[in-house]
Amino acid sequence: MSTQTLLGALRAIVGTGHVLTAPADVAGYAEDWRKRYRGAPLAVVLPGSTDEVAAVVRRCHAARAAIVPQGGNTGLAGGATPDGSGTQIVLSLRRMRRIRSLDAADRVLVAEAGVVLAEAQRAAREAGLLFPLSLAAEGSATIGGVLATNAGGTAVLRYGNARALCLGLEAVTAQGAVWHGLSALRKDNTGYDLRDLLIGSEGTLGILTAASLALFPQPAARRTAWVAVPDLAQAVALLGRARDALDAGLTGFELMGAPCIELVARHFPALRAPLPAGAAPWFVLLELSDSESEAHAQERLEAVLGAALEAGVAGDCAVAASLAHSETMWAIREHIPLAQAAEGLNIKHDLAVPVSRMAGFVADTAARLQRLLPEARLIVFGHLGDGNLHYNVQAPSGADSEAFRTRWEGPCNALLHEAAVAAGGSFSAEHGIGMLKTGELARFKDPAALALMRGVKQALDPQGLLNPGKVLTAV
Ligand code: FAD
Ligand code: ZN
Repeated sequence: MSTQTLLGALRAIVGTGHVLTAPADVAGYAEDWRKRYRGAPLAVVLPGSTDEVAAVVRRCHAARAAIVPQGGNTGLAGGATPDGSGTQIVLSLRRMRRIRSLDAADRVLVAEAGVVLAEAQRAAREAGLLFPLSLAAEGSATIGGVLATNAGGTAVLRYGNARALCLGLEAVTAQGAVWHGLSALRKDNTGYDLRDLLIGSEGTLGILTAASLALFPQPAARRTAWVAVPDLAQAVALLGRARDALDAGLTGFELMGAPCIELVARHFPALRAPLPAGAAPWFVLLELSDSESEAHAQERLEAVLGAALEAGVAGDCAVAASLAHSETMWAIREHIPLAQAAEGLNIKHDLAVPVSRMAGFVADTAARLQRLLPEARLIVFGHLGDGNLHYNVQAPSGADSEAFRTRWEGPCNALLHEAAVAAGGSFSAEHGIGMLKTGELARFKDPAALALMRGVKQALDPQGLLNPGKVLTAV
């Protein structure tokens, strides 16, 4: 099938206006959020329904054209970017943004893949419920994208990652069949778990078109505190105390190094930090959700912080006095990646290490990085409660950040990934493999697990048409 015949057939399926080929129209879909990868798609196709997705896939399958599924294009591993061959189709789910249903009794929301995460949260909120998945890109990231990457974010500590919040899926296979798996059940042991297989598969095993998502009660009250901590060991100690005292009420525990706060202050001066960045080397953003009342929440938070202060685990604390104050605290945390992007290209790491080993891990690796790159800035922040840190290396102030990254990415990756794996951790805790970390996956993944992954890919997509070159390298 010629290229023109394929494009004609795709136009007939989704409508002429929904097959983009002009360079200006495809530009926003051809480059990733970090501006690290730029591809050249044959076309960007925007189907409006599951049937259209299936028909597009069948056409591409017949033409042996590769498909790169894309949601909000906020992924940080290059998973949604086409290659430079000019032959791949970007299949954007952005037009599929309908909330199909919300059942308050069953606490289930069914959303199409292109629904933006913030919209799903809003729909739940309007029904008096909570969809807890929360991350800084939630204004653009889609339900399909968060499930395809098994996204984490700031509420994993209490509610789990995207996988834990998904009850069922509707998906299109590599051959263009539709799997109707939008279960609302909490229990269903009928054979292999295809839902969990597709979640986190980064568009390489199937195209997600809709999902049923679990909803939770809205807490009666929330309290947020900004806590200065003298060192990382004390931050871990504070986490232990907060967990013991608050149990499931502890819904957020984010760590931020002082350089992160300085970076946000430089690029977003309207966001005023509750404590001066120089007050401590580390800060913790702690959130308590309470099912009883405002007063009960306040009392519990004060008790934890008071005891931590007394024990020297915490330094200064600021407890948000209003919703606006709490929102500013969260905004500072969420603007760290944006401030980093504004500062220039950087070397990102997304590591998991058992919490008990975190302080030693960071002290050891920071010292080694400092010897290697004395001028570089370590921008370390993230979900300490999950043992997951974004451990980023930013070029020295004023340096050519592109040259810095090109020269030092390999050595920094080697140092940190090896150290994380040696400490019983992961080189990719949250953002996935995409095309950024295929080499690291081949290097670090257990060989038997890697062989099983290849077998699964071969069984579900024998022609290798779904997002080729992502997660697994071609064999
Ligand atoms: P895309 O970027 O479009 O795609 C990501 C991957 O999913 C690609 O491999 C793509 O092929 C695949 N995909 C997308 N849609 C589908 C579909 N419908 N079917 C099959 N495959 C599909 N991530 C976290 O986990 N935690 C964080 O805290 C976090 N914070 C972030 C903060 C910022 C500022 C930014 C920019 C990103 C952050 N991310 C975070 C990463 C990103 O937001 C998540 O990976 C998100 O899940 C991607 O969703 P998306 O819709 O943008 O997907
Ligand atoms: Zn994160």
